[in-house]
Amino acid sequence: MKNISEVLHDVRTIGIAGHIRPDGDCVGSCMALYLYLKKNYPDIQTDIYLEEPRPVFAYIEGIHEIKTETEGEKEYDLFITCDVSAKDRIAVAAEYFETAKETVCIDHHVSNRGFAWINHVMGDVSSASEVLYGLLDADKIDRSIAVAIYTGIIHDTGVFQYSSTSPETMRIAGELMKTGFDFNKVIEKSFYEKTYIQNQVMGRVLAESIMLQDGKCIVGYLRRKDMIFYGVEGKDLEGIVSQLRLTKGVEVAIFLYEIKTQVFKVSMRSNGNVDVSKIAVYFGGGGHTRAAGCDLQGSMYDVVNNITAEIERQMPMEQE
Ligand code: AMP
Ligand code: MN
Ligand code: MN
Repeated sequence: MKNISEVLHDVRTIGIAGHIRPDGDCVGSCMALYLYLKKNYPDIQTDIYLEEPRPVFAYIEGIHEIKTETEGEKEYDLFITCDVSAKDRIAVAAEYFETAKETVCIDHHVSNRGFAWINHVMGDVSSASEVLYGLLDADKIDRSIAVAIYTGIIHDTGVFQYSSTSPETMRIAGELMKTGFDFNKVIEKSFYEKTYIQNQVMGRVLAESIMLQDGKCIVGYLRRKDMIFYGVEGKDLEGIVSQLRLTKGVEVAIFLYEIKTQVFKVSMRSNGNVDVSKIAVYFGGGGHTRAAGCDLQGSMYDVVNNITAEIERQMPMEQE
């Protein structure tokens, strides 16, 4: 696919969905596609399905038009997923993906094996938002569409920091910037700003973190009872694993929290020598070389032991 217009012939209805527990790239890419289609193809009825995005994304135009539930049986002419690495990760509207006449997947996960009719997957691109940008006509991207794409890019690149940031990423960011939005505010409000409670929880996780494998692996964790104590959910914990990774000497950071009793959501970040997507896939999850995740059952000790054993197998030997 070169341009999204290629799949819009004779299409009257489109559904869009992202992945469960939506992050900035998921919200940004889905909202950008939604706004682009609504503004440039007003004759097509376009709907967007996502789990409730975090309130920090309230500045994205049209965010309140998101449907967080399905509405009975429907058959879309076209259903498009953005930032979804596998079919079982589609949030809210998986049933409409099944019933749709045609399906398209726009993504950037190396673990994506292609589950749609057309799979536009570019594993080396920073974000699904950047992949999406490549499918749009630049002159049809207005300020509000630019804000959504920019949001996705800054979230998946850690504000142009991670190695997935390419010269092309920077060129696109520059083009988006020309539409004249307050990029400084977008970065600060959606990426860096934390609530007081979020900072407290991060502080606690950092304080209780443990170093393994001669300081090359760091593990942070949060138990269910502590999440209840602070009144936080998974989506309040973004950024913790990235902070753990910044510990000097660390190759791999792991952060796990208990989504329900004895079920842990595991996030992994790597400095590049260990491919954490391989470990995530091994445990039934997915992701990228340097950022991946999976859900695991068992006691916290079992989960940590199982994950760290796999990491140790990949950890490069110390040079003699
Ligand atoms: P996270 O650690 O949740 O920020 O996720 C890092 C990357 O791994 C993201 O690109 C996710 O889409 C992917 N990922 C996380 N958890 C899973 C999972 N259970 N299954 C597949 N991919 C996942
Ligand atoms: Mn994502
Ligand atoms: Mn992404």
